[in-house]
Amino acid sequence: GSFQELAAPLLEGEHVTRDMVLSTYFERLFHVHLRGSAIVDEHFEIAGTLFLHTDVTEQKRLEAELEQLSRIDGLTGIHNRRSFDDRLAHEWRRARREQSRLSLIMLDIDAFKRYNDHYGHQEGDACLKQVAAGIAETFQRPGDFVARYGGEEFAVIIADEGDALTVAQADRLRAHIEAMALPHADSPTADVVTVSIGLATMTPVESDDMASLIQRADDALYRAKEEGRNRVCHSGVELS
Ligand code: GH3
Ligand code: MG
Ligand code: MG
Repeated sequence: GSFQELAAPLLEGEHVTRDMVLSTYFERLFHVHLRGSAIVDEHFEIAGTLFLHTDVTEQKRLEAELEQLSRIDGLTGIHNRRSFDDRLAHEWRRARREQSRLSLIMLDIDAFKRYNDHYGHQEGDACLKQVAAGIAETFQRPGDFVARYGGEEFAVIIADEGDALTVAQADRLRAHIEAMALPHADSPTADVVTVSIGLATMTPVESDDMASLIQRADDALYRAKEEGRNRVCHSGVELS
């Protein structure tokens, strides 16, 4: 904002407050909170203006850091559910506007209750961290978004490249987790940690809502579990 635009209300006798980003010759950018008031003389005529500037750079930096932290899952260091919800809403709107496809992976660790029972909750937490890291390693392109959806479930929003490639990517993820060879002595599926994956792809139309994409991925995940785990199922929705 400019100082000119502050003048009018000041001349009306109002107080003015603004948050501004300024730069000086020495300090490139800093945030100030400005409070301006008109000063009047004994006849209540405006005799001048008073501007108080408070440097709030550090406060703004902390706010930004907190905002960032509130989107990160404390255990695994990847995005949390809140961040996922925001991002999916954003990508959903974009896909609807551009009539482009949006793909969602829902992933659930196989026999994780047994993992906890066998190795203990601490080891369970360590396993979750490693699986999260394995997923993040697999999806590193700018359009990919990896989040902990809750408990031992993870979600990935994928920059869509067509059916065959997306299914291949989901299976590459499944294979990658298996190849990490994290021991799971008590799993009925394999002797290492494995995951089941549900995959859904949609080109959103006006009448669809975002929940339907999650529902389809969830249904596909359920089928992957039913069909024996350590596998990928696609929602099988016909694509236009
Ligand atoms: P399935 O193959 O059908 O997925 O079986 P499952 O045992 O993995 O599924 P279930 O949903 O019965 O169990 C999930 C377990 O995940 C139960 C819960 O204690 C555990 N869990 C959820 N969040 C955490 C966590 O943050 N840390 C640890 N250690 N365990 C967790
Ligand atoms: Mg589960
Ligand atoms: Mg599970």
